[in-house]
Amino acid sequence: MIYLDHAASTPTDPRVVEAMLPYFTEIYGNASGIHQQARASAKAISDSRQKVAELLGCSPKEIIFTACGTESDNIAIRGVAWAQRHAGRGHHLITSPIEHSAVQKTIDQLCDKFGFEQTLLPVDSYGRVNLADVETAIRPETILISVMVANNEVGTCQPIAEIGAIARAHNIPFHTDAVQAAAYESLNVESLNVDLLAISGHKIYAPKGVGILYVRNGTPLLPPFTGGSHENKRRPGTENVPYLVAIAKALELIQTHQAEEVARLIPLRDRLITEVLAHIPDSQLTGHPTERLANHASFVFAGCEADGILMRLDMLGIQAASGSSCTTGMPEPSHVLMAMGLPHELALSALRLTLGQQTTASDIDTVLAKLPGVIEKLREFQQR
Ligand code: PLP
Repeated sequence: MIYLDHAASTPTDPRVVEAMLPYFTEIYGNASGIHQQARASAKAISDSRQKVAELLGCSPKEIIFTACGTESDNIAIRGVAWAQRHAGRGHHLITSPIEHSAVQKTIDQLCDKFGFEQTLLPVDSYGRVNLADVETAIRPETILISVMVANNEVGTCQPIAEIGAIARAHNIPFHTDAVQAAAYESLNVESLNVDLLAISGHKIYAPKGVGILYVRNGTPLLPPFTGGSHENKRRPGTENVPYLVAIAKALELIQTHQAEEVARLIPLRDRLITEVLAHIPDSQLTGHPTERLANHASFVFAGCEADGILMRLDMLGIQAASGSSCTTGMPEPSHVLMAMGLPHELALSALRLTLGQQTTASDIDTVLAKLPGVIEKLREFQQR
């Protein structure tokens, strides 16, 4: 089996499992208590927070552990929007049309049900935001800008530090979804000029169901959840100690070995892209040719349905994904590809191949040997 769906989820690193295991059966106290068990849990939380803060270049007080990337995005966007409105600062948000639904649907709901307004920045055919458009979109009542570091469907990276500089010049909080980027990009919050940054565990070889949110000191945030005073009163709920130990360990491993892994993956990714485009007629790369994640190759194949490609690849032992979702039997083209200007039919033929730690050159050879035949057969079949 060849697994090329690391953008969807990654296996948990055995070193991460080893780090988290004692916190299930040996150290299980509620960190709010005062006895030894509780203090041991509290220490694990504080050590993990310190580790994450060092990796992101911030203070431990600026780190919130959450239950997933979606929750991190929700707390950031809702929290800032509510705090800003409460302070009478305005109701206008700026975002891009290619955000993950964790961002997009949160902002849509604020607009549809709570009277906020949004400006969607245009993106070019590679899915990149233009800095001049960010500047133009800003209004006196703009209270938040949210643009992702890298896109989950097409791998395109955004000029985050530059957008952050514009936001800062206007004193507007800037949120970025770094869920896909965390494994492959540096996440120093000072260099990125961000005020809020979201990470998810299961994209960086930690388990599913844990996330991180960085919130710069001084950023207005009204916590959407209410309850106890955990996470510096910003995310109540008894801390999931094994999982936050896991995400801190995973982030440490992935960020420490990032340069070597990126240098290993880029030639594999580039060979995959070059050979697919050379050997499959009417194939097209989606996303930016160079400003893209090190592990990410994505294409469209005119005349093919994405589900057909995925099912045939799966039968051949290759696990991949597409950009479109099919919930009601009628395939819907991806909002990302549509925003990038792809025709509806073509957007229904998306294939995403995302490499990871176990991916080898021989896996890429196998894909290159099998994919052209899959596309050819599918085109023949669909023309009948
Ligand atoms: N943001 C991006 C860009 C993602 O790709 C994902 C997951 O696919 C999420 C947010 C949501 O993360 P989680 O699955 O941890 O809720």
